[in-house]
Amino acid sequence: MAATRATSCNIFRRFDPCGLTISSRVLAFFILVLSQFFGTSYDCDSMTVHLNDPLLPEAKMHIVLPGAPVVAHIASSDSCIRGKSASFVRHIGIDLAGTPLEGTFLAGQSFGVVVPGVDSKGRPNKVRLYSIASPSYGEDGFGRIISTTCKRTIEEIPDENDPMRSDGHPLILGVCSNWLCDQSVGSEILVSGPNGKRFVLPVNHSDHDYIFMATGTGIAPFRGMIHELLVGPPAGSPAHAKWSGPCQRKIHLVMGAPYRTDLLYDEWFRNLASTHPNFTYHTVISREPLQQPGHGPHTHHYVDARLDYFRPLLESNRTLIYACGLAGMQVGIFKALAIAGLGGQYLTVHEEIAAIAPSEWTTEQIKRRVRPTHRCMLEVY
Ligand SMILES: Cc1cc2nc3c(=O)[nH]c(=O)nc-3n(C[C@H](O)[C@H](O)[C@H](O)COP(=O)(O)OP(=O)(O)OC[C@H]3O[C@@H](n4cnc5c(N)ncnc54)[C@H](O)[C@@H]3O)c2cc1C
Repeated sequence: MAATRATSCNIFRRFDPCGLTISSRVLAFFILVLSQFFGTSYDCDSMTVHLNDPLLPEAKMHIVLPGAPVVAHIASSDSCIRGKSASFVRHIGIDLAGTPLEGTFLAGQSFGVVVPGVDSKGRPNKVRLYSIASPSYGEDGFGRIISTTCKRTIEEIPDENDPMRSDGHPLILGVCSNWLCDQSVGSEILVSGPNGKRFVLPVNHSDHDYIFMATGTGIAPFRGMIHELLVGPPAGSPAHAKWSGPCQRKIHLVMGAPYRTDLLYDEWFRNLASTHPNFTYHTVISREPLQQPGHGPHTHHYVDARLDYFRPLLESNRTLIYACGLAGMQVGIFKALAIAGLGGQYLTVHEEIAAIAPSEWTTEQIKRRVRPTHRCMLEVY
């Protein structure tokens, strides 16, 4: 497979360590990253130089454009939440057989869905992107069936001028997500893609250790990637013959959700963690009281117990960080990395803010002046 070495930007900054112990900085990093959803804050100000950019595969892109989508078929549709939840999220399989998209996707890429018909202004519905939740060899090992993790968008929009109006808070049902979740097996679906080329696994899985961070449906690409790293293609499939076996490197998945019932593919990840000692599954639940270590707002209890394990991983020059989920998630992660003194391998910082302590960076500065290196992959929406 053709591959490209992801080259890093030349702006490297090294900040003096902030004086915290390594353990404190690692702890600070995790508290900030995992608890960005809880509004926790923590101070420190150092960064180090990054090394060992990953060798990425040559991802195929835009084989089918949204203006001329191809017809695929719904192959499966199953709920992927843990029992009852206020959210409705489905794992949806899509059969690409016979289309130019068959066998073209890499785990981490996304595809477009075009809902038939027109929007409220009479224009053709615009394309929406969905991350694939399947590995590069597809759900079937032949690259014919991809999948995604689709959350129904359901919102009440209050009338800002008159919130008390009885008809002033209409229910908005997102066009594409609800259409997609409504479809049954065999239905036609118009798809385009693939999209994205950087949010993919490296060519040589064993060259790196991995930290995956997800919120909500941001888990989708990690289901595919972790399948690829640990489970492998179904026996008898062409991909299986080429598979070199489960990745033995360290793999951490940190999944943030408001309630435990919102954890997606939870049982699948738990089973994987119980059968692969190099895979650790962390859940960070923001809106439930502390019931056991690892749940509730006190994530530092969880991290505290594991500092010896995380320290070498974050400071290692072969660890890759992948984060996917809510837009704005990168702000908390970048700031946390920099404050914890672990940003140098994962971030480049514009000289305009290089002299400012990371704890003082504003959201706007982080959005405009901090960029991930090739050791830190982001997909936010
Ligand atoms: C790279 C990428 C990957 C993605 N991956 C996934 C994924 O794996 N899973 C997933 O579920 N989503 C994913 N998304 C998000 C997805 O593309 C859609 O944005 C999402 O499903 C909502 O689309 P929709 O058509 O249902 O909602 P839309 O109809 O587009 O509505 C979106 C929002 O617009 C506003 N809005 C709409 N209509 C009105 C109105 N009449 N009045 C006021 N406000 C209104 C509301 O805030 C509403 O929530 C991804 C996005 C990107 C960019």
